[in-house]
Amino acid sequence: MNTEDDHQLQVVGADIDDDRFHDECGVFGVWGHPEASKLAYLGLYALQHRGQESAGIVTSDGKELRTHKGMGLVREVFSESTLKKLKGRAAIGHTRYSTAGPSAHLNAQPFTVQCSKGQLSIAHNGNLTNGWELRRELEASGSIFQATSDTEVIPHLMARSRETTLRHALRESLLRLEGAYSLVLLAQDRLIVARDQRGFRPLSVGKLETPDGKLAYVFASETCAFDLIQAELIDEVQPGEMVIVSNEGISRERFAPELPKAQCVFEHVYFSRPDSRVFGRSVAQSREMLGRILARESPVPADCVIAVPDSGVPAAIGYASESGLPYRLGLIRNHYVGRTFIEPTQTMRDSRVRQKLNPVRDIVEGQRIILVDDSLVRGTTSRKIVRLMREFGAKEIHLRISCPPTISSCYYGVDTPSSSELIAANQTVEEIREFTGADSLAYLSLGGLRKSVESLADDCCYACYTGKYPTDLVGVEILTSQSQK
Ligand code: AMP
Repeated sequence: MNTEDDHQLQVVGADIDDDRFHDECGVFGVWGHPEASKLAYLGLYALQHRGQESAGIVTSDGKELRTHKGMGLVREVFSESTLKKLKGRAAIGHTRYSTAGPSAHLNAQPFTVQCSKGQLSIAHNGNLTNGWELRRELEASGSIFQATSDTEVIPHLMARSRETTLRHALRESLLRLEGAYSLVLLAQDRLIVARDQRGFRPLSVGKLETPDGKLAYVFASETCAFDLIQAELIDEVQPGEMVIVSNEGISRERFAPELPKAQCVFEHVYFSRPDSRVFGRSVAQSREMLGRILARESPVPADCVIAVPDSGVPAAIGYASESGLPYRLGLIRNHYVGRTFIEPTQTMRDSRVRQKLNPVRDIVEGQRIILVDDSLVRGTTSRKIVRLMREFGAKEIHLRISCPPTISSCYYGVDTPSSSELIAANQTVEEIREFTGADSLAYLSLGGLRKSVESLADDCCYACYTGKYPTDLVGVEILTSQSQK
């Protein structure tokens, strides 16, 4: 299922069944546009699925940075008048999801600091696996932290750097970081973006013409943000690359030697929007292939294919085309849930899933259904949906998951629960089938997943499916329990 409403429910603390912590974010940057704050707003709006807890924009007019950030969805945090106050031709923005709590607003990004290098503002997507360790080290030598997010170590490292230019201070700081980061950093007179050496999280660079005929540069986690503001994709920010834009133009440089890439395959499985190009490949294409290969690997006699909307849709379409079975709209999603606290009756089972999804009785009744979802984490969602479909008369339900079993937590910025809560880490496929109540259950194989992302296969991180992590996980257990971003 899609994240937005799940997230929203968690923000209001209403959904105890789905209290997974998310440390997922979207970042955006623009340089050289008279309506920078508006573009940042629209960019964040397109990246809303990457985080719904807080949103923030910082602009620069060349002299001063101005900030507006708050808890809630992008459209709730900003108004026409707040955007007007965010003056300047440069902006960065951030949308974030994490643990809800009284101090959560402290962690809202971008973070702005005043230090020896001037005024700086930073927004970050990803998790630093040595963030906690760095923080302890910095605190031991006198640094005072305001928030609990690992991002804050970056400006602290920069402030302490003996390097005299911003670029060199950032470079020196980045070389101390381990793990995942796609960052955008704004100073009075320049915008710098950087991506970690393995490229865990996406970050793209684009351009657009300004109303006064000049060239503006834009940066975003996903290219769907470019489409909304009618910017043209130039390319990905490369792993280990830093891009600097100022009035002197744009420059790109490698700040660290090349390492084997470990781009998050889950971006293609679930997290990114299908209308984005991520890591240079269309997400829609990957998703459809996931479904096609799943159909080849795990066929079963059935009457139709039904998706768990919205995130299961492209794979279900792929499954249907490959199998020759009709794709039918047998589950309808209410896009407006997440706002209500009202439980219809105390005794109504699976009320949250019912509010979100409703089977179409005339499509489901008496049918042998292939039910496709993008992933199965704890298994509770699938269990509820299977139960619901049965109630509406489904004869058989064959659950098909368009990725391999999720057996390990992610430490690089996708929030998965600890392995004790990951059903596939603790139970066999047959036990999971039994738990969900489906007639059959099949996951996509790891080989099938690799085939679906085609040329990206060797450049991806599969740790959540294999338990093989591409970095040392120093201090990460403590970090993730204390700080979610
Ligand atoms: P579960 O009930 O834990 O098995 O949840 C599985 C559902 O959550 C699937 O329908 C996915 O679409 C969705 N999902 C998977 N991973 C995530 C994530 N990291 N954040 C939010 N939703 C997710």
